Amino acid sequence: ERERLARLLHTPAITIDGQRIELLANIEQPGDSAAAVRAGAVGVGLFRSEFLFMGRSGKLPDEDEQYRAYCEAIAGMQGLPVTIRTVDVGADKPLDKGHKDGHLNPALGLRAIRWSLADPAMFRTQLRAVLRAAAHGKVNLLFPMLAHTHEIEQTLAQVDLARAELDARSVPHGPVQLGAMIEVPAAAIMVRSFLKYFDFLSIGTNDLIQYTLAIDRSDEAVAHLYDPLHPAVLRLVADVIAAGQALGKSVCMCGETAGDVGMTRLLLGLGLRSFSMHPAQILAVKQEVLRTDTRKLAAWVGQMLDGNAPAAALAS
Ligand code: PEP
Ligand code: MG
Repeated sequence: ERERLARLLHTPAITIDGQRIELLANIEQPGDSAAAVRAGAVGVGLFRSEFLFMGRSGKLPDEDEQYRAYCEAIAGMQGLPVTIRTVDVGADKPLDKGHKDGHLNPALGLRAIRWSLADPAMFRTQLRAVLRAAAHGKVNLLFPMLAHTHEIEQTLAQVDLARAELDARSVPHGPVQLGAMIEVPAAAIMVRSFLKYFDFLSIGTNDLIQYTLAIDRSDEAVAHLYDPLHPAVLRLVADVIAAGQALGKSVCMCGETAGDVGMTRLLLGLGLRSFSMHPAQILAVKQEVLRTDTRKLAAWVGQMLDGNAPAAALAS
């Protein structure tokens, strides 16, 4: 099976009915990007930059250190695009392992963009590093866990300010596409107003499922209730994809669901055309793409959205 998949490495991911599908990699370290290319990725859809910040006893990487890390990731991709997500610490990804958060509900607390906006000078250090790296390749800048319009406006203001700071120092920087993670139900419901601000969206199903179903993604006791197929989740996903399509803006999915071969057909049926996943999943998902005719999925997808498709249908 492994050898059979390996033969798909250079095969373009196109469905039977000719839909081109973008298969991207999720990475955690800059050095992972070269392996992503070898695994068949046509870009990095999610660089989890928080891994540069974690386990350092609170001593955060400065602008130059981050700049070098982003440049390394970009160089490894050999001209393919890299989507860098700003720091998403907190909840299941504490800055320091031994450090206990102390808050009752860390998943609902000061994490991701909330953490960045709480310290704008630190946030701009990261933004300047990304903007500088963007002079060396195709870079997209992605923001985690936005829920409020005022958070979007503050975030974009910080990007402008970071650029102005680089200009004031006469430091070269490059253009970036700006994107929002859709991983809080509020963002999914308000996706049309999000789209006014951003060039692209990326659906984070790990958190979207957690917050939609009120299931802590790291709590074993409720893991059996963590269900990517819950029709409420599927409807949010479907609506985000449709809203992006209507405006001609790219919608990616970068949660674990995107790399689950059992979900590929359904996601294609929902209209998803860009998937970002652990590099090890890319060829298996590609195989599913090559076997799928999206024209035949509408009735079944409709049943899944209503929550009354026979369970066996997913496997067929
Ligand atoms: C997600 O929430 O689906 C996601 C991709 O982000 P993370 O898993 O890093 O929270
Ligand atoms: Mg997330």
